Amino acid sequence: MKNVTELFGSMVFNDKIMREKLPKDIYKSLKKSISLGTHLELDVANSVANAMKEWAVEKGVTHFTHWFQPMTGMTAEKHDSFISVADGGKVIMEFSGKALVRGEPDASSFPSGGLRATFEARGYTVWDTTSYAFIKDGTLCIPTAFCSYSGEALDKKTPLLRSMEAIDRQALRILRLFGNKEAKRVVANVGPEQEYFLVDKAMFQKRPDLVYTGRTLFGARPPKGQEMDDHYFGAIKPRVAAFMKDLDEELWKLGVYAKTKHNEVAPAQHEMAPIFSTTNIATDHNQLTMELMKSIADKHDLACLLHEKPFAGVNGSGKHNNWSLSADNFGNLLEPGETPFENAQFLLFLVAVIKAVDEYQDLLRLSVASAGNDHRLGANEAPPAIVSIFLGEELNEILAAIESGSAYDNREKHEMEIGVTSLPHFTKDTTDRNRTSPFAFTGNKFEFRMLGSAFSVAGPNIVLNTAVAEILKQFADELEKARDFTQALNLLVKKTITDHKRIIFNGNNYADEWVVEAAKRGLSNLKTTVEALPKFTQPKNIALFTQHNVFTESEIHSRYEILMENYCKTLHIESHTMVDLVKSEIIPACITYQNELAKLLSLKATEYESTLEEYLLSRISKLSSCMLKKLNSLEKALLETDIERDILASAKFYREEVYGAMVELRLCVDELETLVAKKYWPLPSYAELLYSVV
Ligand code: ADP
Ligand code: MG
Repeated sequence: MKNVTELFGSMVFNDKIMREKLPKDIYKSLKKSISLGTHLELDVANSVANAMKEWAVEKGVTHFTHWFQPMTGMTAEKHDSFISVADGGKVIMEFSGKALVRGEPDASSFPSGGLRATFEARGYTVWDTTSYAFIKDGTLCIPTAFCSYSGEALDKKTPLLRSMEAIDRQALRILRLFGNKEAKRVVANVGPEQEYFLVDKAMFQKRPDLVYTGRTLFGARPPKGQEMDDHYFGAIKPRVAAFMKDLDEELWKLGVYAKTKHNEVAPAQHEMAPIFSTTNIATDHNQLTMELMKSIADKHDLACLLHEKPFAGVNGSGKHNNWSLSADNFGNLLEPGETPFENAQFLLFLVAVIKAVDEYQDLLRLSVASAGNDHRLGANEAPPAIVSIFLGEELNEILAAIESGSAYDNREKHEMEIGVTSLPHFTKDTTDRNRTSPFAFTGNKFEFRMLGSAFSVAGPNIVLNTAVAEILKQFADELEKARDFTQALNLLVKKTITDHKRIIFNGNNYADEWVVEAAKRGLSNLKTTVEALPKFTQPKNIALFTQHNVFTESEIHSRYEILMENYCKTLHIESHTMVDLVKSEIIPACITYQNELAKLLSLKATEYESTLEEYLLSRISKLSSCMLKKLNSLEKALLETDIERDILASAKFYREEVYGAMVELRLCVDELETLVAKKYWPLPSYAELLYSVV
């Protein structure tokens, strides 16, 4: 391996390369449009495109693509070669500014939720200059936003960029109030920790359920699960280590700051965390990471499972979204400062997040809703469906002291007055002890822990950025009017704590008592995707997004439709896979084994000799008829899915009828797996899947 500093970013058209390859004036104009988000002039675009092409061609690249993030949650690309016809039957390699800046994929097959009828299929991809172009698999990839002919966002990047603008605008107003006249930009930063499973490719391919749905639809519990907790941070096995090394190198080449890797709680489960970057870059990089995890696993004869719950009874996978705000001339705004004045500013941002999370709990919840994540949230391994904030004891006491106007520090015995008293410095130790909280303050950032492993982090961060922007706006509106700033600030912080402290919970989020307590506090508990998604279109939430220009009303409706449809489609595919598997593989296996037992029985003379065969045959035949009954119920439910319903009714039907029938069918099949001889059982077992990679 080349040395890491040389390797890092070697496939990225980054600032260093731009400075080297671009004429000075062009470089300056490009930098200006990147930092101010302004339009690129055509001559600048032409010059940049040409330099990009030359850099790429030197590395053996022949094609380019506009790389975008349609609402499928994945990335999309359509490759064009650089070739252009030249005289004498020859070709030249060409890449114009126009082709760099804007593309026109025929996008009629991407979900648009009714935003774009197929007859006006044109969609545009537009270069996001804040995210560098890179080379992946021999193709120059241009990160782009994707919108319709009429300018509506058809992707996840556009609203994310808009939400970053919203929070920048409002946070700057707050900084000005604290006398910071020089700050030019406030950005939201994200460090997503990514969990995943690695299983042997040959085993994976023998499981149609994994291949088609990403999770096992059947599978009896293995004799050894995660009860010993011996996998967590355990020594990394050679095949996994080789995969991780390759992954790191490929990610580094693409400029992704892959930093931490370790084994997770479940057998075969692992985690990768990068160093944080801006929300936009972190989102692009997380998409790339997920893609590379899959392709690199394949090269190592492994399969990478990103599904939230690949195995029942074994921990599922999530993604922790570490989030903070920073100003260009200040640093982290969620870092408790050195002086009372800095701490006043910190407290204001802190209570803004508290209020935002309380007022928009439903949006945060629905931003992590999916059929896959429904298996995790509330299932004693991931934070529950109830959104709450963990602050840690120390910070909690400080807020309580502010609210009651009483002394906080026993030694100093003075009142906690914002902007006058210093806060003690929190160490990570005192704030990061609660692993059950869905939204935890961890010293200088918040960690939103409800995300599913397969998610794009765009959605949750759009909500987070916009909700906090809204509260900062309300705060700025009020404080800008105030005659006595410190007094107004004190009142505002105090009032916010009083009004929103119900969202703070430092106890065990997995306990049943919390569910009861949360209900008393009036916190929402949206248990499933079907319950959560309809909140998207509530007037309060539409107002939030439209006022901050993050989504138009029709963009919200389209996303609601797509997410609901996606839920139904997922259950549709899962249930049909189940039916197919039972009919084509499981029933024949049961019959073959029963046949063998019956033959054996007929050969035996006395009753005494045949107890075992009889017992097995009768158990298996009883369970088989139970399986048949459950299969019939599932098929009956599936027939009814064809009935014309609106999308919500459809999703409810899938949840209540189809999913219910799937769970029951699985019970019979899993029991059968424990009885039928292994040589007849068509699917690799959980034990084989979870312990096969050494
Ligand atoms: P863990 O949560 O496993 O203890 P850390 O808290 O050290 O690990 O970091 C987890 C993730 O949080 C990493 O991706 C890290 O880069 C990111 N992170 C650290 N500081 C910040 C910050 N100020 N803003 C956003 N993300 C951050
Ligand atoms: Mg963490």
